Amino acid sequence: MDFSLTEEQRQIVNSVERFLERHLPPEEQARRDAQHDPPYHLLKVMADDGLLALPFPQAQGGLGSGWDTVALVQETMGRKGWMAASLFNRAVGFGGMSLMTYGTEAQKAALMPRLIGEGLLFALGLTEPQAGSDAAAVATRARRADDTWIITGRKSWISDAAQADFIVTVVRTGESASGREGLSILLVPKDTPGVSFTPLPKVGNNALPSYEIAFDGAEVPAEALMGEEGKGFVHLMSTLHYARAGLAAAVTGAAQRAVDLTLAHVTEREQFGRPIGKFQVIRHRLADMQMRVDQSRLISWHLAWLIREGLPSRRHAAQAKVIATEALQYVTQHGMQTLASAGYIIESEMQRLWRDARLYSFGEGSNEIQRNTIARELGL
Ligand SMILES: Cc1cc2nc3c(=O)[nH]c(=O)nc-3n(C[C@H](O)[C@H](O)[C@H](O)COP(=O)(O)OP(=O)(O)OC[C@H]3O[C@@H](n4cnc5c(N)ncnc54)[C@H](O)[C@@H]3O)c2cc1C
Repeated sequence: MDFSLTEEQRQIVNSVERFLERHLPPEEQARRDAQHDPPYHLLKVMADDGLLALPFPQAQGGLGSGWDTVALVQETMGRKGWMAASLFNRAVGFGGMSLMTYGTEAQKAALMPRLIGEGLLFALGLTEPQAGSDAAAVATRARRADDTWIITGRKSWISDAAQADFIVTVVRTGESASGREGLSILLVPKDTPGVSFTPLPKVGNNALPSYEIAFDGAEVPAEALMGEEGKGFVHLMSTLHYARAGLAAAVTGAAQRAVDLTLAHVTEREQFGRPIGKFQVIRHRLADMQMRVDQSRLISWHLAWLIREGLPSRRHAAQAKVIATEALQYVTQHGMQTLASAGYIIESEMQRLWRDARLYSFGEGSNEIQRNTIARELGL
């Protein structure tokens, strides 16, 4: 067993750190959070730096790096630039891996060079008002008419939908009114006539705007179908481990950032004539926080290794998602308690991490649903 980084991985982590120090320093993240201003332009900068090429085969213009290297980039971005991690994960772990896994040859040929060279943004259009955890309850319909699909229905809580280049949209094409069978996936350009967006105000992740989408007879060509008609659910499931791995790694980085901020504070802040980090209750709290982050890192690295080796990872992906997101909530909750008023002021980075963290134990597949998956994988 070997946990050491290769020289190449060390260099990539260093260059990602420099990238974030230059483009997304803490004060810039605070400004973007306050002004609800996502750093979309960074996708092009990531492309120019070769970051978006990392996991893809050389035949597609990629660098063919293992998923362990991708996870290191995601963790580094989570630690030093949470907003960048979300964009990177969306482009690489979701958009790129969806195209590579179930995109048609024509879609790959047209879009992979643009994704790697320019940085395309993909949104996932799955959730609907009546279809949250129960994804098979999707009711948005696509009807085939000559050489087109005509889409009618509503999506809710779709991140970056109005800014994305494409919305990977889950639609019902079969006869049945519900159930996994008969779902298909269409690649919908966001500026398609008949597609409109309504923003949803929310409590955190201000640089990740959320939208309701209305499809009112929106028409896309027949070639917009990704993978096989009626196999949309299977296709989605076949890429989930990439999204979970990206989230777990990025969340691990953000959790480490929360520990680092807390550590700096307890060393500087004095009460009763000594740094508060000298009080045993605070010392043990920091020890517990760091242990939770290290657990999260270990399981996220293990998951990345399973993916790199092409080994089954369904249970580990669910476990990594649960452990990492709950670690982030644990450390931000205790970070807020430890910084006290210094964390509650709106300029504090801790309050932003704490607000943002709240989403991830129910977003991206709730932790209850992950535990159902783990139990099922255990044979229950
Ligand atoms: C900020 C934000 C961004 C999002 N981005 C996207 C996006 O880009 N694309 C997208 O498609 N969706 C997105 N979502 C939707 C997100 O994936 C859903 O919120 C999530 O799947 C949970 O669905 P729900 O909110 O409807 O909760 P519900 O499904 O109503 O669940 C409510 C509670 O019941 C529990 N529960 C439900 N079923 C079970 C069960 N069988 N066993 C045990 N417990 C259960 C859940 O775990 C949860 O605690 C986003 C949501 C938010 C808030």
